[in-house]
Amino acid sequence: MTTVVVSTLLVVNRQRVMLSLFAATVATPELAEKGDEGEGVTWFDDYYTIQHLDDRTIAIGEPRYYQQNYNYLILGNDRAILFDSGPGVRDIKPVVESLTKLPVIVTQSHLHFDHVGNHTRFDSIAMIDLPYLRKRAKDGMLSLTDPEHLGYIEGFKPPELHITEWWRPGETIDLGGRTLNVMHAPGHTKDSMILLDTENGQLFSGDYLYKGDLFAFLPGSDPSEYLATATTLNEMLESCTTVYAAHRLDAPAAPILECESIEHLKQGLESIRDGKIPGKGLYPTTFDLGEGLSIMTDNPWFVNWTQ
Ligand SMILES: [Zn+2]
Repeated sequence: MTTVVVSTLLVVNRQRVMLSLFAATVATPELAEKGDEGEGVTWFDDYYTIQHLDDRTIAIGEPRYYQQNYNYLILGNDRAILFDSGPGVRDIKPVVESLTKLPVIVTQSHLHFDHVGNHTRFDSIAMIDLPYLRKRAKDGMLSLTDPEHLGYIEGFKPPELHITEWWRPGETIDLGGRTLNVMHAPGHTKDSMILLDTENGQLFSGDYLYKGDLFAFLPGSDPSEYLATATTLNEMLESCTTVYAAHRLDAPAAPILECESIEHLKQGLESIRDGKIPGKGLYPTTFDLGEGLSIMTDNPWFVNWTQ
């Protein structure tokens, strides 16, 4: 009996234990030196950068933070969205207030600590409307769990968020003269959300897609769902769509990917599923997809492909 209980606990907690062991090998580095960010990028202060991608889309960068986060301010005529608020190493609100007088609603590509760190500084917070999250919210207050926030890795406490809007997958958000489609994009996490500005050919991908190691081995990650999301995206996108990602590998400027990267990711995931690409390492296992993309999954023994 004891063996059964211990084995069950080990299976249930295996991913968390493995992640903690992995995290213990990676120390959080100090802020990097200010680098050359190139033309069109200005420093707001000694931490944040500002880059106008067009007259209604602004990247707010954190190039000195080791994960090099990029948050996006998406402006309409009547209101604005702040898509991701960074790890909260610094207050992002003065940056946002310097860029727009519109009412701003903050939302996130997903619930990891490095994307919701400044959320509680804003009065309006939008959350993807997934039944399990809605069920947990009491009087609009949603507490994040350790496995979905992961802040314990760097000493950040999970916040309690006052949700003022729930955005259904498939819903269109009207900012006044500009609309964004909400897409549920599981794979990196269960709560991942992509925003699509179809008219302007823009896709805000969060951690679902960027150059470098994509993380599909964390609690809530699922390579099979990663592939399903890529397949849906490929079918949905009628024309070339620029991808604005949440992290970058190197300077200068915001991480922007060409539209072909979505198709490339889909093909890469299919190749992993079909055993055509060799993985490196036991946990996480890294697969090189080419074109600057790679993905880290749980050990292939534990990956259940249903797509
Ligand atoms: Zn992230």
